[in-house]
Amino acid sequence: MAGVRLQGIDKAFSETRVLSGIDLDIADGEFVVFVGPSGCGKSTLLRIIAGLEEPTAGDVLIGGERVNHLSPADRGIAMVFQSYALYPQMSVAENMGFALKLAGVAKAEIAHAVAAAAETLGITQLLDRKPRALSGGQRQRVAIGRAIVRQPRVFLFDEPLSNLDASLRVRMRYEFAHLHKVLGTTMIYVTHDQIEAMTLADRIVVLNGGRIEQVGAPMHLYEHPATAFVGGFIGSPR
Ligand code: ADP
Ligand code: MG
Repeated sequence: MAGVRLQGIDKAFSETRVLSGIDLDIADGEFVVFVGPSGCGKSTLLRIIAGLEEPTAGDVLIGGERVNHLSPADRGIAMVFQSYALYPQMSVAENMGFALKLAGVAKAEIAHAVAAAAETLGITQLLDRKPRALSGGQRQRVAIGRAIVRQPRVFLFDEPLSNLDASLRVRMRYEFAHLHKVLGTTMIYVTHDQIEAMTLADRIVVLNGGRIEQVGAPMHLYEHPATAFVGGFIGSPR
């Protein structure tokens, strides 16, 4: 487990500035939710933390160590995307164990890790199925399971529920809260859904136009929004 520190992160794609001066300290074991409108830079920031994108300026520290030069695999981070990105030709168990297999982990150890993660997520009965035989919610659980077996120091979730229907989103929300309670791992979760942010976060980070608008506990932002933008996004009913 490890905290995450962002220091002076800037990002530009050619002329377009996407992130400006992002400073943020995420504690070990904290559940932090990034919220903000489409295009404000949420995914780009997650990808920079994961090492899938290089910042134009600034540092990423994980567990106190500067990781700018480290590959995604060496950062001890697992990222779950909204598209799930499961391998269609592999079974659920193979999907979940694939990263460990690539890393040369012994078969028995992989089987053990996959079984444990499947139990945590309640998908033990699905391990032999192919992704096409799964519902949206089941696929999402497999994608999360694939992240869990790697025992990352930090989980990154990019709008993991946005492809699910409303009732499933509510259920999965509780599952994320449960997962965080069970694992205790640092989690950084991106959403544009106010209720997801309010219910899941230890702290919410409101992004707007590539800058941090406000950071705080959900109720603090709700009761004391620093700007009209935060008030519109978190503070007042829609
Ligand atoms: P969000 O996830 O908050 O919707 P993104 O981080 O995906 O926002 O995108 C922020 C901005 O950066 C958008 O204007 C987007 O078009 C731009 N952007 C993202 N990735 C690239 C890229 N690879 N090349 C150029 N522009 C990009
Ligand atoms: Mg995005």
